[in-house]
Amino acid sequence: MGRSIGLEDALHDYLMDVSVREADVLARLRDATATVRGAGMQISADQGAAMQMLVRLMGAKRHLEVGVYTGYSSLAVALALPGDGHITACDVSEEWTAIGVPFWREAGVSDKIELRLAPALETLDALLADGAADSYDTAFIDADKTNYDGYYERALKLVRPGGLIMIDNVLWGGSVIDQEKQDEDTTAIRALNAKLKDDDRIDLCMLSIGDGLTLARRRD
Ligand code: CA
Repeated sequence: MGRSIGLEDALHDYLMDVSVREADVLARLRDATATVRGAGMQISADQGAAMQMLVRLMGAKRHLEVGVYTGYSSLAVALALPGDGHITACDVSEEWTAIGVPFWREAGVSDKIELRLAPALETLDALLADGAADSYDTAFIDADKTNYDGYYERALKLVRPGGLIMIDNVLWGGSVIDQEKQDEDTTAIRALNAKLKDDDRIDLCMLSIGDGLTLARRRD
């Protein structure tokens, strides 16, 4: 499973031991995902806990997810939302999202999660065309890296003023500082990180949790 970069093993284990209260249904979805191709894409349990805390602190009711994979982050957030909470969950893979759906159902949160199987840029543009601008409290971007900038720009319109955008994998396993890595994914992440540093539309913070998680709060 994914884990924070640069934290020594024993200290990492301690942090997990004393702080992570992973719900049983989340732990079982994690196990069910462990054998699936791309299992490393699943967020770590401590990152799930951090996202749940942020969603609660935000008092969020409406959450946008770009990149569902097998549904761990959707489930974690759904468990932290109030009963009338809603997640618009975007992904292109029926195969992968189908792994999470039974766990959403078992946890009693499937009514909160609206899965949209289509290229996420299309879904986000459709939401904007439908008048959903300024309507989300929080967003999580964790899909294909080459479209990160497009997802960010749309999410910035879709969240309300004061809304929070969380962006995953911003340290990209350390590749961001390896100048020999010039592949499209790495350069896209580097470019977005550099852009956000000077983006005065947001308040900015980057956490080293997991593979790096940027917090961008839309300014009022
Ligand atoms: Ca990720």
